[in-house]
Amino acid sequence: MKNYDVAIIGAGPAGLSAALYAARGGLSTVIFEKGLVGGQITLTNDVENYPGLEKTLSGFELVERMKKQALQFGAEIREEGVKAIGLQGNCKLIETTKDEYSSKAIILATGAHSRKLSVPGEEKYTGRGVSYCATCDGALYRNKIVAVIGGGDSAVEEALFLTRFAKKVYLIHRRDQLRAVQTVQNRAFENEKLEIIWDTVVQEIKGDKFVEGLELYNKKSKTTMTLPVDGVFIYVGIIPNNSLLESRVTLDKGGFVVVDQNMHTNIEGIFAAGDNVSKTLRQVVTAASDGAIAGFSVEKWIVENKENFK
Ligand code: NAP
Repeated sequence: MKNYDVAIIGAGPAGLSAALYAARGGLSTVIFEKGLVGGQITLTNDVENYPGLEKTLSGFELVERMKKQALQFGAEIREEGVKAIGLQGNCKLIETTKDEYSSKAIILATGAHSRKLSVPGEEKYTGRGVSYCATCDGALYRNKIVAVIGGGDSAVEEALFLTRFAKKVYLIHRRDQLRAVQTVQNRAFENEKLEIIWDTVVQEIKGDKFVEGLELYNKKSKTTMTLPVDGVFIYVGIIPNNSLLESRVTLDKGGFVVVDQNMHTNIEGIFAAGDNVSKTLRQVVTAASDGAIAGFSVEKWIVENKENFK
């Protein structure tokens, strides 16, 4: 069984940054990634708030750079999904879709995935007008009418991005105030193609072969209306990917992993970093920061516990 000092699960910005720090610190380091390297940020078209970028970069380009840097320092990336993690004495056992491995420490950098709206029509029309990725599908809606659901940073930023293609973008939010940061809100208020429909929830996504409209309910006026749209982009938050150790690692009420300032979980030798961690600010820069702390802390933890690994 191949043994590593540290096994990192997930190759998004948190995992890649953890790998950079761990490998650069001299640890044998492997990252397991079941999907595409890069995680959720690869779905973002323009990253403009990561320090050091003179001009915007796509999420994909940014993580490609992170990947190259981690590999340069000797980290390995294995395209294998992790099925189970076991604890055996001081060792961690990792069962993947291809093999079994052991490590001294683990960093859970498993990220998060899109929350579903859970309304009739959502599943039926996914891929036929319902999308969770404006970067992937936005160009299909040139000169069409689309709706974006949600009021957070993702919804407002992606609604703005969609105005490059669509002739009209409705932003449908369940309250009378957006959650997104003020600068992004201001850009939305100023954009003539973007109209915000306040205090409104989607009751149903309707169509024939493709989406044709939304059944909306205004919570203040208590009225329903049908809004004709060609596409709907759902950005109503994220759910952490914490199923691997959820029964053993301490989670907050939202299901995010609770860590200390060293990104250490309640289990000795298991660290966590990135969007799956309990925190207030989820950005590429905070994911990279979590990863750096986790990679550094693992190195320190292994040195402190070296007697246990003889
Ligand atoms: P979020 O901040 O949790 O916002 C989710 C939005 O969806 C909220 O406006 C929420 O409404 C709404 N919502 C939730 N459930 C709903 C439902 N069932 N029906 C209708 N609306 C619903 O999620 P996010 O925008 O995906 O962002 C996730 C994290 O990534 C955040 O920490 C965010 O700051 C960060 N992020 C940062 C950037 C950036 O800095 N460039 C970009 C994207 C995301 P309420 O407001 O009423 O709760």
